[in-house]
Amino acid sequence: MQAAPRTILYVVIVALAVALGAAPAAPEATERWFSTGIYPRVQQLLTPVSNAVPFALFDVLAGIAVAALVAVLVCGARQARRVRQAAPMLRAVARVVVGAALIYLTFLLLWGFNYRRVPMTERLLVEAGAPMPEAVVQLGLDAAARLNALHDAAHQSGWREAPWQDATLREAFTQVQRNLSDAPPAVPGRLKRTVFGPYLRWASIDGMVNPFGLEALANPDLLPFERPFIAAHEWAHLAGYADEAEASFVGWLTCVRADVEAQYSGWLALYWQVASEVNEMERARLAGALDPGPRRDVEAIVARIRRGEWPWLQQAGWRLYDRYLKANRVEEGVRSYGAVVTLVLRARFADGWVPVRRGFD
Ligand SMILES: [Zn+2]
Repeated sequence: MQAAPRTILYVVIVALAVALGAAPAAPEATERWFSTGIYPRVQQLLTPVSNAVPFALFDVLAGIAVAALVAVLVCGARQARRVRQAAPMLRAVARVVVGAALIYLTFLLLWGFNYRRVPMTERLLVEAGAPMPEAVVQLGLDAAARLNALHDAAHQSGWREAPWQDATLREAFTQVQRNLSDAPPAVPGRLKRTVFGPYLRWASIDGMVNPFGLEALANPDLLPFERPFIAAHEWAHLAGYADEAEASFVGWLTCVRADVEAQYSGWLALYWQVASEVNEMERARLAGALDPGPRRDVEAIVARIRRGEWPWLQQAGWRLYDRYLKANRVEEGVRSYGAVVTLVLRARFADGWVPVRRGFD
């Protein structure tokens, strides 16, 4: 008996997906052939295409995927009922499995392999170990001082709706990428709305990258002073820094060397991160260090999140993301967000927050 060529193809696709999913991590090789090799070229092709359309390609792709899933299953069920046999339904399920394997392979090849690249702690000169708690609090106080100093100028100059068209932020992003790797710099992406916006709101997720279209999707409720940092964070993902802490680190580095609005946004994000990691007493001390202006902005963010979130969906959403990160070998899961504070405190910097790379001297 001979298996049909199509069956062989199906088996090969699923086997390839399973094999790549389980393949041992090889950070140096992945960095070379993927993250600084084919990926930047793919990004430079895909993101400009996505930037050219105002809607999210993600919405279109998700619609097609759901329609195809329903069509295959309904078709299989109808046929199975007509011939009174399970075979057509089993074939339909097999098609769904092959489809899922193809989607996973596409995910890996367009973006997902970035989860397996060389980590920032090996790319840069970073002191080993966790920072001392006092250093974390001091970073929060420094951030508060920066916010106090920048607040009026940042608010006076107004807030741009479209950070991807902001020349200083784009230029800063390119510079930061050059500091971090020799790969061709990534193209900044337009912050887009998505039909999944309500989900981002209810789960209080600020933004995400569509790995199949290399575009940045944002929570529809972001406040103007949050947008420059969220944009820079998502751009860092587009530059192949898949890890959340690394994306926040790159986003912060980008913001602090751009204009005052972006600087304010970057320090605000870092303040927020530090405040979420210290104990209640220290958090009160950080809040006390803020002038009325920045305090109003922090309170506005708290109010935005409270208004939008559905606590059960928020927990479910973050649990799902945690599982997704762990499936992509981010052992710390969503806790990896917090590692940005460690990077800011332990990485070595030259003047102007330029991080020092390791092993290139
Ligand atoms: Zn992110």
